[in-house]
Amino acid sequence: MISGERPFIDLHVHSTVSDGTFSPADVVISAAEVGLDVIGLTDHDTLAGWDAAFAACPPGLTVVPGLELSCVYSAAGQRPISVHVLGYLVDPQHPELSAELTRLRGERSRRGEKIVEKLVSAGYPITWDRVLEFADGGSVGRPHVGRALVEAGVVASVDEAFVELLSAAGPYYVRKADMDAVAGVRLINDSGGVAVFAHPAAGRRGRVLGDAAIAVLAGSGLAGIEVDHPDHEPAEREHLRRLATELGLVATGASDFHGSNKVSRLGEELTHPAAYRELVAAAWGSRPYVG
Ligand code: AMP
Ligand code: ZN
Ligand code: FE
Ligand code: FE
Repeated sequence: MISGERPFIDLHVHSTVSDGTFSPADVVISAAEVGLDVIGLTDHDTLAGWDAAFAACPPGLTVVPGLELSCVYSAAGQRPISVHVLGYLVDPQHPELSAELTRLRGERSRRGEKIVEKLVSAGYPITWDRVLEFADGGSVGRPHVGRALVEAGVVASVDEAFVELLSAAGPYYVRKADMDAVAGVRLINDSGGVAVFAHPAAGRRGRVLGDAAIAVLAGSGLAGIEVDHPDHEPAEREHLRRLATELGLVATGASDFHGSNKVSRLGEELTHPAAYRELVAAAWGSRPYVG
């Protein structure tokens, strides 16, 4: 159970419309059960879970509809770095955003199939059809390939699948054509939302941005950075908190819950109520859903 000063706010949660294992309805029910007051539903490159989350939202819980946009940051002379940008309270009807999300989901699907082809060529007994079944019509991601690998007995857990087989540094990795991060921040703002840089220091997933690049994003309209995230070490959090103050960014905290596809628990990290209020006040594309 969560303790401390209320409201309890967890602003980064995934469901089955991307690579979480809880349906949007189960996410909101579980959020209320663990004692959360506010959750941000932030599935990868899709808004498809919003309506089901609103419909199942228990009394007393607030759902902040959002997404996690797949982006890359490209600096001159350097290889592009993968960047996840959370967008809260965007207008779900915004034509450019909708078109970009459709493109990104297509890209996820093509790239997922290529990863599977590489794994199959190396002798791993999985199929693309099975991966699509795990994705169940949602945004396809590497965790779905991981589940196929677990089912086939290749690895014991999705986490283990990421260590060698699915890692960005591994031989089976395939890049997807993600959105430019500066353009992504602008698109979120243009569609009425607020943009928060997800897990900026999660180095276990690959290379991370330096402070100068985060400053560029801040100058392009980024509103916040995720400071308290399960993948961040205490020293990284301290550094990011200071950077947020320097750059005038809101510091958030969130679990990045993915159900059984990842080890983090709902409500494991929280956002301060004042930070939450600042983000909501800056958005006009849609409003939090109060159950
Ligand atoms: P993709 O979006 O297909 O590139 O896959 C990235 C997703 O896999 C992100 O949502 C991560 O949360 C998840 N992920 C990254 N590393 C791991 C890991 N070690 N174990 C489980 N999931 C992971
Ligand atoms: Zn994910
Ligand atoms: Fe992410
Ligand atoms: Fe996430």
